Amino acid sequence: MSTEQMNPFKIVQGQIKRAVDMLELEPAVYEVLKEPMRFLEVTFPVRMDDGSVRVFKGFRSQHNDAVGPTKGGIRFHPDVHADEVRALSMWMTFKCAVLGLPYGGGKGGVVCNPKELSKGELERISRGFFQAISQIVGPEKDIPAPDVYTNPQIMAWMVDEFSKIKESFQPGVITGKPIIIGGSLGRNEATARGCVITIREAAKKLGIEIKGARVAVQGYGNAGSIAARLMHEMGAAVIAVSDSKGGILNPAGLDPLKVLAFKDETGSVVGYPGTKPITNEELLELECEVLIPAALENQITAANAGRVRARIVGEAANGPTTPEADEILAKNGVFVIPDILANAGGVTVSYFEWCQNLYGFYWSEEEVNSRLEFMMVKAFENVYNMYKSKRVKPRDAAYLVAVDRVAQAMRVRGWLG
Ligand code: NAD
Repeated sequence: MSTEQMNPFKIVQGQIKRAVDMLELEPAVYEVLKEPMRFLEVTFPVRMDDGSVRVFKGFRSQHNDAVGPTKGGIRFHPDVHADEVRALSMWMTFKCAVLGLPYGGGKGGVVCNPKELSKGELERISRGFFQAISQIVGPEKDIPAPDVYTNPQIMAWMVDEFSKIKESFQPGVITGKPIIIGGSLGRNEATARGCVITIREAAKKLGIEIKGARVAVQGYGNAGSIAARLMHEMGAAVIAVSDSKGGILNPAGLDPLKVLAFKDETGSVVGYPGTKPITNEELLELECEVLIPAALENQITAANAGRVRARIVGEAANGPTTPEADEILAKNGVFVIPDILANAGGVTVSYFEWCQNLYGFYWSEEEVNSRLEFMMVKAFENVYNMYKSKRVKPRDAAYLVAVDRVAQAMRVRGWLG
């Protein structure tokens, strides 16, 4: 595959163009949506533990706020680059729109390697970055959240920094916070829970019984391990799971909680008793009913898509399937629940967290889960109806729903002429 096709910014632009053309919308829709409305690049000095000063670079991208304030995570990673942050903010616009959340898309990133930083350095970077972007974020403007290598502690430092700048406590500026300062119950499980709900709904439509269905999960972190546990609780047989060190297979089914305990103890799922070692590539090609990619992007490609034998692919990860692979899966009758729908449970409960912060009224975990269930089922139905009526791939159907919503908002606000 060429570099151009793998550039996430080009991929998302192509997805928007397809949707605008299929919906026969006015060309202005594509012109407005093809790049972020605001992109801030910042540098900021940070005192390191050895007394030296290092200058870090960060980005915040706000794609489109026609529907509401922008929303999306902040990642800390050495490879963060401008086009990636732009693309991720664009995907957030459509993820929020598929779920009908009152948000546009945002994303941020800081070029740094958290594995090489002390806790104090991490705190000073978090505070420095938030100070640098403080003019463009806020509960009614742009609401960040955790992403790759950022976590509730980092969100807490950022809220603290923003609250100092505003001279008042501002929990609604960020989601994914620790519970004690306004985080939501159920947030930790939300991505996996949402993904499993969409898989259950897809299985109903396709006439697949979840009880006894064979499930393979690539990636055993937050999204993958919880999705495995929830599928197991619904009576499915989780036959294979993997992490960055490799995979394990037991055709009779694994106990996901025991596998997680083993991984916590040893650092990997590999070596779990009673299993056969397999590679990550082999896991993707197993005969099973449900495949859940929950690790990295670009895992199912033109090279291996033809060998995927699952009936449903539930994309817990962002961008695990390349556009060429998507075509191949569709031709082979594999039902792909696209990332912007399948993993939207996380941002949905982030939205619940923000609502709770603005009201100062906090919900029980049962209430969070039942509202999540309602929103995911409704979003799945909307996408499925579009898939049936337009006879397009599920991913295209999700973009049609999303782009149409954003276009409607832009139209009534007078942005399209
Ligand atoms: P995580 O860091 O908790 O887990 C990632 C897992 O993937 C780890 O088990 C790691 O060992 C494994 N992994 C890494 N490289 C791998 C490889 N080459 N092959 C197989 N496994 C590999 O991350 P997470 O939060 O679970 O996120 C996973 C995916 O889900 C990402 O694409 C992320 O963007 C997406 N996602 C997560 C959330 C969330 O709320 N956690 C929300 C939306 C989307």
